[in-house]
Amino acid sequence: MRKTLVKKTLKTIFLSLKDAVFPLKCLACQELFLRQTAHCEMDLAPGKGLYAHHTSLYLCEHCRRDFQGIESPICLRCGLMFKERFSGDHLCGDCLTKPGKISFARALGVYDRSLKYLIHALKYRGKIQVSRALSRLLYALYCQCYTNETMECEGPDIILPVPLFKKRFRQRGFNQAWLLIKDWPLFLACRSGNEKTECIKDGLVRNRWTDPQAGLDRKKRQSNIKGAFSLSSHLDVRKKHVLLIDDVYTTGATVEECAAVLMKNGARKVDVLTVSRTSEKGVA
Ligand SMILES: [Zn+2]
Ligand SMILES: [Zn+2]
Repeated sequence: MRKTLVKKTLKTIFLSLKDAVFPLKCLACQELFLRQTAHCEMDLAPGKGLYAHHTSLYLCEHCRRDFQGIESPICLRCGLMFKERFSGDHLCGDCLTKPGKISFARALGVYDRSLKYLIHALKYRGKIQVSRALSRLLYALYCQCYTNETMECEGPDIILPVPLFKKRFRQRGFNQAWLLIKDWPLFLACRSGNEKTECIKDGLVRNRWTDPQAGLDRKKRQSNIKGAFSLSSHLDVRKKHVLLIDDVYTTGATVEECAAVLMKNGARKVDVLTVSRTSEKGVA
């Protein structure tokens, strides 16, 4: 008991000294900050608290608290968060008129504020360590989606990252969507009903270069991405329930195109989870 206390005290002293010499730099506001202890997010709502907990090495206390989760009322299919906050979940106009291939899309938070900075730090500044935090947060959303009685309790058969074209992969050095799930096999192995769920790195292939979707409107996004994906020859998705993973959901054009390929190859159902989504359709 005494030994543990001494060990803990020494660790605290070591971390305090380390922080004094090497304070951390917030990836959102760029301010230097000291490592926070776990109790400082106790007063936050569960979603915000989890975000603050997992991002404590990357964001200052102020930025860690600005997370905006996706909250009901949302579109039951595409997960769009409605501006008016007093009705229940229902389908948005687009999903009523043009339902698309995916069965549902859900995201962790609004693509804004510190979450947007974290995604940018990962994708454009090579801060790969951020993916560890985002991966754990996204897994919490996965657990929430597949235990909710209104959705399917059993997890998907296959989890696939939205792929990058090989030229983009060489430029970036990694596929951020894969980094978001590469640790999931460990988590899934411990989750009953999900032991057979497979995370497959190269299940989908991006066949050609596509201009970045950011800044394009819905129509241009659809034509930009049309025919860009195919299924890897080693993957059989017939009758399989597939979950697609990406970092940002904007109009859904990219994931719809992936889902179309999967359905054409016999998939039974395609869901989508992303770390973030825009609060309005097509704005990124
Ligand atoms: Zn900050
Ligand atoms: Zn919708």
